[in-house]
Amino acid sequence: MRRLAVGFAVVLAGFAVWWLRPPERVAYVGGAVLTMDTQDRVVGGIAIEGERIAQVGTEAEIRAWAERVRARVVDLEGRAVLPGFVDAHSHFPGAGIDVVATDLNAPPIGKIQRIDEIIAALRAQAETKPAGEWIFGTGYDDSLLAERRHPTRTDLDAVSTRHPVGILHVSGHLAAVNSLGLERLGYSADTPDPEGGRIRRDASGAPDGVLEENAAEGVTRALAAPGPLDALRILRRATALYLAAGVTTAQNGFATGAQLRGLTWAGRLRLLPLRLVLWPGEADGDALIDGSFTPPRDDPWVRVGAVKLIADGSLQGYTGYLTQPYFVPPGDDPGYRGYPRIAREKLFAWVERLHRAGLQIAIHGNGDAAIDDILDALEHAQSVAPRPDARHVVVHAQTVREDQLDRMAALGVIPSFFVLHTWYWGDRHRERFLGPERAARISPTASAARRGIHFTLHADTPVVPMEPLRIVWSAVNRTTTSGATLGADQRIDVLRALRGVTIDAARQHFLEGDRGSLEAGKLADLVVLDRSPLDDPAGIDRLRVLETIVGGRSAYRAP
Ligand SMILES: [Zn+2]
Repeated sequence: MRRLAVGFAVVLAGFAVWWLRPPERVAYVGGAVLTMDTQDRVVGGIAIEGERIAQVGTEAEIRAWAERVRARVVDLEGRAVLPGFVDAHSHFPGAGIDVVATDLNAPPIGKIQRIDEIIAALRAQAETKPAGEWIFGTGYDDSLLAERRHPTRTDLDAVSTRHPVGILHVSGHLAAVNSLGLERLGYSADTPDPEGGRIRRDASGAPDGVLEENAAEGVTRALAAPGPLDALRILRRATALYLAAGVTTAQNGFATGAQLRGLTWAGRLRLLPLRLVLWPGEADGDALIDGSFTPPRDDPWVRVGAVKLIADGSLQGYTGYLTQPYFVPPGDDPGYRGYPRIAREKLFAWVERLHRAGLQIAIHGNGDAAIDDILDALEHAQSVAPRPDARHVVVHAQTVREDQLDRMAALGVIPSFFVLHTWYWGDRHRERFLGPERAARISPTASAARRGIHFTLHADTPVVPMEPLRIVWSAVNRTTTSGATLGADQRIDVLRALRGVTIDAARQHFLEGDRGSLEAGKLADLVVLDRSPLDDPAGIDRLRVLETIVGGRSAYRAP
């Protein structure tokens, strides 16, 4: 108990110190200021007064302002200033999960390449924990393991038979557990598959340890419920990682009830030096409708946004729901095309209820069959209860077709693309999951841009690290890890890509009036880069974040 109290005090003191430094009057001149305003103006200076932007303009204008109000002048010496990055979709603070779970990512993110390496890494964790406590790992990718398969119950029994072991697939949509883990989840040979999920089985019909979609939820839930001290350590680590990447508004795209309430209070009490947007998970949509949870109103530090539903799974986990079969099927069925996670009728009812309640809805949809269901449900809701500016979101929209983009434009639906898939999984989408044609048009940003759609771009962290500059680089270049270009005609220009992580991401969250661009009166959330992303589009992934400023206060400085 004493240890816990000391831990709390240390962590909270760390955040409090940041608040003790008052924001000041500062002028930045001598570099490119990318405003991301409606004209995409690039100007020579920016003036900050307290927590807000006083003025943007030419270097001479900003210098004159500084002289008039006696502001501190910072010479950028050729560096660039951009709006702080707005996270369109991730799972903050999941980036800090390695505080309690072993990182099982394969290169280029981590080091794991074989199942015996997974076992060894998890054994090290088991040695530090009392019997009976969960051993967690995250980020394993069956398609990058030498064995080309998921670890099974038998593999994970080699880690421990005295601890339940649960490891999460890199997609977050599947998990593998050991025998004790299956027991804890209550899964046996007699357990039927849950709706929208699968308990994979061996020849005898007994669970083999691999769990898909809704069947894997018990593991996700256990992982999302750390003790209070670990929760603070996770929060602290995730905050540091996001700020170092230039993110000033972080997002939780599927908050559990505890996360929703805890993070809302963290925001209200100003405990974190970055702003939050929270999307309640499907189970908590009702709490918003019946008023048992009251979201903060117009609080610049925390906003409760869309309710999140999950209509299908992940293409690299073979659970994304497609209209045409996977290119290389996972089993014996050449016609296999995944499955929905929410039955169509249920999705219709759910969407209509949330839409009628005036809520924004964000629906995860990767496969084009899932996207058909989503758009049908949204179109139905709009037809029975028209709402002109609902800004419903299709999260990922990975294999969205041209005809579906037409419908999105007509419905005002925002696709939020996980364009980094071209880098991390691009080669495998072409060779295994989707084949060359469909792979070339995953995350079709150019098609969306042609229709004037305000799409957003995200990293889905902790699925991949939070790196907005790599997101932008990926949308501009569409390079795969083997160096190929995946769908050259879907590349977009640098400013268009930047909009997806700044102003259009703010718009997706209904926050464009206050952030996302550098304009007088908006929040002084900005990021300083070593040079302008406009100078070398092919090298944007190598740009460095030098400083991150939130509400006029420096929240991160590169060492
Ligand atoms: Zn997500």
